[in-house]
Amino acid sequence: MNAKKILVIEDNPVNLELTVDLLELAGHVVLKADTAERGIQLARSVRPDLILMDISLPCMDGLAATKALKQHPATRDLPVIALTAHAMKGDEEKALAAGCEGYLTKPIETRTFARNVALFIEAAEERARTREAA
Ligand code: MN
Repeated sequence: MNAKKILVIEDNPVNLELTVDLLELAGHVVLKADTAERGIQLARSVRPDLILMDISLPCMDGLAATKALKQHPATRDLPVIALTAHAMKGDEEKALAAGCEGYLTKPIETRTFARNVALFIEAAEERARTREAA
């Protein structure tokens, strides 16, 4: 797959590092934000191909950030995949309700992470093609 621009919004430095390493290893260009506010700013200016959104963030959480992105015309069409902690039951449903296109559970499964991200990007590109055709 071609290199994509991926924005990772994650406040845990260890998780952020791992996520970025796996994505860069897969050939992607990665942008990082450790707060929702910074992530939203970057999403507007850079328009990444995919956003990976931690749900548990300081101040504004990932659900509120996703809603904000989905309400703004400039970022509405950017695909958002939630990073949800495995132990937090119900997070997946909340993430989808907030407008996320999908979710990946933490701890990150290192062997399948890049492949799953690629599948989400393909699905997003397919949706974009459908939108253009409509
Ligand atoms: Mn977090």
